[in-house]
Amino acid sequence: MVANSTHFAVNLKYKFFLLILGIILGFSSIAWFFSSHLLAQANEKWAELLAGRQVMFDKHRTLLPLTREIALARQLAADPALLDMALHEDDPAVRERAIKVLEAYRLNFRDQSYFAAFARSGNYYFNDAAGQFTGKQLRYTLRATNPNDKWFFATLGSGKDYQVNVDPDIHLGVTKVWINVLIKRGGEVLGVIGTGINITEFLRETVDINQPGVHNLFVDRDMAIQLYREANLIDYASITKDVEHRSKVDLLLTSPGDIENLRRVMRRLENSERTVDTLWVTFHGKQHLLGVSYLPEIGWFDLTLMHPRILFSSDTLLSMPLLYGLALVLALSLVGWLVHRWILGPISRLRASMAEVQHGNYQIDLPGIGKGEIGDLSRQFTDMVKVVRDTRDGLEDKVKQRTEELLRLTETDLLTGLLNRRGMQKRFDQELARQSRQGEALGLMLIDLDYFKLINDRYGHLVGDTALSAATAVIQESIRAFDHAARWGGEEFLVLLAECNEDALLGAAERIRAGIEGLSVPYSKGVFHFTASVGVYYANAPEDQEDLLRKADKALYLAKDSGRNCVRRYAE
Ligand code: GH3
Ligand code: MG
Ligand code: MG
Repeated sequence: MVANSTHFAVNLKYKFFLLILGIILGFSSIAWFFSSHLLAQANEKWAELLAGRQVMFDKHRTLLPLTREIALARQLAADPALLDMALHEDDPAVRERAIKVLEAYRLNFRDQSYFAAFARSGNYYFNDAAGQFTGKQLRYTLRATNPNDKWFFATLGSGKDYQVNVDPDIHLGVTKVWINVLIKRGGEVLGVIGTGINITEFLRETVDINQPGVHNLFVDRDMAIQLYREANLIDYASITKDVEHRSKVDLLLTSPGDIENLRRVMRRLENSERTVDTLWVTFHGKQHLLGVSYLPEIGWFDLTLMHPRILFSSDTLLSMPLLYGLALVLALSLVGWLVHRWILGPISRLRASMAEVQHGNYQIDLPGIGKGEIGDLSRQFTDMVKVVRDTRDGLEDKVKQRTEELLRLTETDLLTGLLNRRGMQKRFDQELARQSRQGEALGLMLIDLDYFKLINDRYGHLVGDTALSAATAVIQESIRAFDHAARWGGEEFLVLLAECNEDALLGAAERIRAGIEGLSVPYSKGVFHFTASVGVYYANAPEDQEDLLRKADKALYLAKDSGRNCVRRYAE
């Protein structure tokens, strides 16, 4: 039973623990779900903002030098001297004047170089920063059949006022970001004029930024790569090629879904006021946020790939589960402690008290065991134990009384209420023991009613019983409270007197004899009288019971022999 209740407590503790764990896990996963969702949303917003800033930064860093060059080149293309030259190239004066203007512009261009190519002649003029072609600016004549000159004829045919084109110059052996501006008069295209920026230098300043986790590139409307830090991926001379043969952004973004999304974003930017958009793409096998911005001035898109590492603080992301875990452990410990304090502890103490009661200790008190329901339970248990204890005590008293009563009955003669032989034997043993211990004298008295058979015969047995009872009353009145009287036989009584002297013994015997003689026993026709003979023996020194009784019996025999109704002492 004790083992069972321990098992019960352990079981309960275990179940409580599981329940609490379940509740906390449940709630924290819901909390986790929502907060991580919110966190992800916040992070995404944050990332988009950051990406937007980055893209705008890249865009302006790239666009600024380009727009300046474009503006200058357009100004140059509109110069009357150049228009003159386009129409009257053969006129040396016109030519000289135009070259003067070109040379003046050259120093203003970033690259300190210019080119001018005229549609009518196909002549290509060029000079560079070193001015190495001063005086011989006419370099060569462009031919439609030469593949290297395709750019010129494509630009003439494009109809766009200006274009930016990344292209190697075979004749000069350099790759440049070319700014090509059409020389126009009315509807007629007279030539192309512009400048180039050294691509190596330009890449270093624009896309080859040394910012870890950030990749910057520029693509045209067809997604052909125009500027990228890996120069071999750049789609050179885009305007001269078919779409299929271009070096496009799908070299970097390998997922067709990403390309499709990017295309959608690009179309949206091109046709709306919006300046920046973001989308998630896979780059180098990892998720990157791609910031996209449109550069309408040159028809390019600025793409900035950002690794999430630079967007999110990994510390905050990592510390969240740690905080959750810590909170979980703390909450569990607290709840466990409370459950133990409020429920399991009081139950355990209650169980211990129950075990005490089980082992017979009813002296239990459970003050302040728990509060609320558990407290009520404890108080009710205490009350119950008190009731059980009181009932048990009452029962014990009753059983004791009954036992004593039964014991008394087993030692009592039913008719007279005196001790029976068995009861007298016990007193005899006690008195003999006391006599041998203390050496006191012991008096014995044997009383036998005279001619009792005759009384029975004459008046009936019931009247005989009345006489027996009357004689008993006389005997009881004649002795002290601590003397012992027993019905020793049918109408024979034995009286033991402790701590007495011989005179007192004889006095008591005489009182009894006289008392019985004086009795009047009623019967149907009046009253009758009867007598008793008494034999006494006074023992000064210890003797065994058999001797004592034999001597008292002998004294009684003497009394009978002496004519009855008298007291006789034992004599040798
Ligand atoms: P004595 O003693 O004087 O010699 O004559 P006795 O008639 O008394 O002779 P005895 O002692 O031999 O007889 C005892 C009688 O007592 C026998 C019996 O009828 C009667 N007696 C014994 N016990 C009871 C009893 O409980 N009730 C009644 N009514 N009589 C009893
Ligand atoms: Mg007798
Ligand atoms: Mg008799």
